[in-house]
Amino acid sequence: MSDDWSPRTRAVHGGIRRSQYGEVSEAIFLTQGFVYDTAEQAAQRFQALGEDEFIYARYGNPTVRMFEERLAAIEGAEDCFATASGMAAVNAALMSILKAGDHLVSARALFGSCLYIVEEILPRFGVEVTLVDGTDLDAWRAAIRPDTAAVFMETVSNPALEVVDVEAISRLAHEVGATVVCDNVFATPVYSRAVELGADVIIYSATKHIDGQGRALGGAVLGSRDYVRKVLEPYLKHTGGAMSPFTAWVMLKGMETLDLRVRAQTEAAHRLAAALEGHKALSRVIYPGLDSHPQHGVAARQMGGFGTVLSFDVKGGQEAAFRVLNALEIVTISNNLGDAKSIATHPATTTHQRLSEEMRAELGISPGLVRLSVGLEAAEDLLADLDRALAAA
Ligand SMILES: *Cc1c(COP(=O)(O)O)cnc(C)c1O
Repeated sequence: MSDDWSPRTRAVHGGIRRSQYGEVSEAIFLTQGFVYDTAEQAAQRFQALGEDEFIYARYGNPTVRMFEERLAAIEGAEDCFATASGMAAVNAALMSILKAGDHLVSARALFGSCLYIVEEILPRFGVEVTLVDGTDLDAWRAAIRPDTAAVFMETVSNPALEVVDVEAISRLAHEVGATVVCDNVFATPVYSRAVELGADVIIYSATKHIDGQGRALGGAVLGSRDYVRKVLEPYLKHTGGAMSPFTAWVMLKGMETLDLRVRAQTEAAHRLAAALEGHKALSRVIYPGLDSHPQHGVAARQMGGFGTVLSFDVKGGQEAAFRVLNALEIVTISNNLGDAKSIATHPATTTHQRLSEEMRAELGISPGLVRLSVGLEAAEDLLADLDRALAAA
């Protein structure tokens, strides 16, 4: 791979390892183990692995390695470790860095399961956690202390789409030597400039845009070679959150069309958000690409594209929101995002059901809030579907 290749070219050719047969499409090495010519070779490989050597699929596998190298090439990160799901990635990234007595500062606006790790699991192991409003730089400044070991955020939060200023927070964190950990799912690898902005550890749920066709669960953690090989890999290879080779193959194929899909979905999402803003059935439309979005400027600077998801608040609360969801014909009711199929979600009763009413209110997850992940259908068809459904509100 040449250094001059653009991310879009890397997404097609990055990380490829051809077998002796010279196959065009990446091979699926559906094997958990590897044989050795001699006992000496086995002993040698357990001491140190060469580039093309593997010992056990929990540690690494050729198909999974292709996925890791391709994603690292798109992201501009030195290295990557693939995981069984996005949550396995979040868990491993945080658990591999933190230990009892450490202090973590985290944005409060998080996906339900991320919040569970930060609020419930880490404190159980003696990690002190301070939650802040991710969009409030003064709150980060006040919370970060000389003994802060790491900061954590969703760069664009789920589902209220708050955009966190990664560059500014990285600067604050690095002043005290804290590691910056970003869940970058909503930014997608297409719009991510996380490495350049100062993020040390970048997490994706590959289940979302990287697969993009609703087939497989997967995740990835990216960072410097030192972090991935010396901190993350020992944790993951001994705790077993590895991605399966079959999933890695699905994700490799997903990456080939990632750029095209994400850009087309973003264009449609932007069009829908602009068309829906001011609709009489809605009290607000949230999309980082709209001038009305409080962090529109940060999003423009940080991503250069605004993503495939928008949210809107239906007047009349949960009942009205349910009427809208039930009246949709093209858009499906589900909870994935980044999919080729447009998907509508009611976060208050599904993905964020576990939270208290107060916490939901604080995070902007009102009873009427609907998250819309825009797919690859024609934007005019989606708009007609939404217009018709909103009339049912
Ligand atoms: C979906 C999601 C996850 C979890 O990913 P899974 O692949 O479902 O485990 C983590 N963070 C964010 C922001 C997500 O949207």
